[in-house]
Amino acid sequence: MRLILLGPPGAGKGTQAQRLVKKHGIVQLSTGDMLRAAVAADTPIGQRAKDIMARGELVPDDVVVAIVADRIDQPDARKGFILDGFPRTVPQAVALDRMLSAKGMKLDGVIELKVDANILHDRIANRVAQAQARGEALRPDDNPDVLRRRIEAYRDQTAPLVDYYRGRGVLGSVNGMAPIAEVADAIDRVLAAALPSKPAGKKAVSKTVAAKRTAATKLAAAKSAGQQKPSAARSARAPAGRGTGRAAAARGKTTLHKSKSRRG
Ligand code: ADP
Repeated sequence: MRLILLGPPGAGKGTQAQRLVKKHGIVQLSTGDMLRAAVAADTPIGQRAKDIMARGELVPDDVVVAIVADRIDQPDARKGFILDGFPRTVPQAVALDRMLSAKGMKLDGVIELKVDANILHDRIANRVAQAQARGEALRPDDNPDVLRRRIEAYRDQTAPLVDYYRGRGVLGSVNGMAPIAEVADAIDRVLAAALPSKPAGKKAVSKTVAAKRTAATKLAAAKSAGQQKPSAARSARAPAGRGTGRAAAARGKTTLHKSKSRRG
């Protein structure tokens, strides 16, 4: 399963990502965490990102895209991943599309956590207070001025992704103002609606297999009876071809990703 969690700072992406990781056995890829690790390790990327992050601005697309491209190639991401904090701009989303299609992969869904901007300050203040109570070091960008800039960066550069993914038919919006458990249920419902492609696909595929088996049986019977004609072989193969078409049609109907695609 490959998902994106979309929402402003304080929307609850991290909380929900952790739950989904446990539930689905996939990895959470947080560009914020990766960049903070790079800053802490003082790598060249960390040096480039440090001041930008402290100001609450966005790190250049090429830097973040390179980190993600490298990360999704790691073995632990093979089963799937949740992207948290990426993509954050339309060019990043375009780069992600390109990256995934080059690997023959696609997104299963994009979950938008919708929250009222007025509560974000309170939520982050809460998070800071809790981290302080646990004796943890504070993030340099967890202060009111920088938070305002992070929220602006979201509104100006990231919010357009809502339309981008809606246009691709992969967006599911969830009320992020509800209690954590309710948000979790709503996300599960969105995913359940987005993923019935699997059973539908399987059913259709098994029909295809059944058609192929029937064809093979007919062919074998014809052979053993010494009556095989090329036309018989062709017509025996035909239902399998149509079955594949139906399978594709069924997948197109039941998944969120293919409909209304404006890709390209
Ligand atoms: P938040 O708590 O605001 O959701 P994150 O932990 O995801 O923030 O990211 C913290 C900072 O890291 C951002 O303000 C930004 O400077 C940088 N960053 C993280 N992800 C990206 C990205 N995809 N593109 C550009 N900058 C990013």
